[in-house]
Amino acid sequence: MTAFKKSPWVIHYDASSCNGCDIEVLACLMPKFDVERFGIINTGNPKHADIFLVTGSVNVQNAPVVRNIYAQMPEPKVVVAIGICGTSGGIFRECYNVLGGIDTVIPVDVYVPGCAARPEAIIDGVVRALDVLEEKRRFMNSSADSVGGGFMINRANQKDIPEILALQKIAYRSEAELYGDDSVPALGQTMEQITADFDRMIFIKAVVNGKIIGSIRGFRDGDTARISRVAVHPYFQRKGLATRLIKQIEQEVGDVRIYEAFTGHQSLRNLHLYEKMGYRQIRTEPFTPTVNWVYLQKERT
Ligand code: SF4
Repeated sequence: MTAFKKSPWVIHYDASSCNGCDIEVLACLMPKFDVERFGIINTGNPKHADIFLVTGSVNVQNAPVVRNIYAQMPEPKVVVAIGICGTSGGIFRECYNVLGGIDTVIPVDVYVPGCAARPEAIIDGVVRALDVLEEKRRFMNSSADSVGGGFMINRANQKDIPEILALQKIAYRSEAELYGDDSVPALGQTMEQITADFDRMIFIKAVVNGKIIGSIRGFRDGDTARISRVAVHPYFQRKGLATRLIKQIEQEVGDVRIYEAFTGHQSLRNLHLYEKMGYRQIRTEPFTPTVNWVYLQKERT
């Protein structure tokens, strides 16, 4: 194991079974085994996590939870299935409601067998996960450098919602830092709110290697197309993707007279992008003490 580039953050979920492996994971975090001495930090927030530690088998009830946590984790991410239940369903695999190991619902990168898996084996699994994480990080960086115009851009569907929400929260983190204000609406949006947006708006996604790395949404309001939430994964920014997403939503939203978008007053990159595409600033409205919305319009040609 070489030096870490950053502290890896782990999130732990006990899917089901006897809880034996769950207790061994907790033992790793306690003073005796103390994984924090390697810089590994346990977090309860999937949006901050790099490594997903899952114990127990997957059943009908917990499968959506496992999928949901996984979808909210930013790329690159690594999944470690712990214990024989997590790796294959174990002694519970024949139960009426058990689907199997973790890989029946999400892709698993590292398997740590054992019943229960020993803390040393779990720590070894996390160390192997770090290598996989670094490999994925390198791959994403090289994909971002070489992808050029090779994005797949098309309409999103309902099952893309968790991944788009996770992307939005990664992409808008820099906006919150810019304004020194965490109340940026894109960061606070809940699953219920984005699902409600999905019911009334068109969502567009950009996909590379099966991962959503860009999105935008819009809807028709009379003769105006209202466009919002351009989100591009930080690894794929400054590659023309935002421009392509805006062009695509302009096409998809249909036959309108005016396109209208808005962005924060300090988001100079977004303002420049819209103005380069023919939008002109029409008004500014205060939103919070730190953020003013700048509205921009363009007539359809
Ligand atoms: S692998 Fe063994 S100890 Fe771990 S959760 Fe399954 S039955 Fe329990």
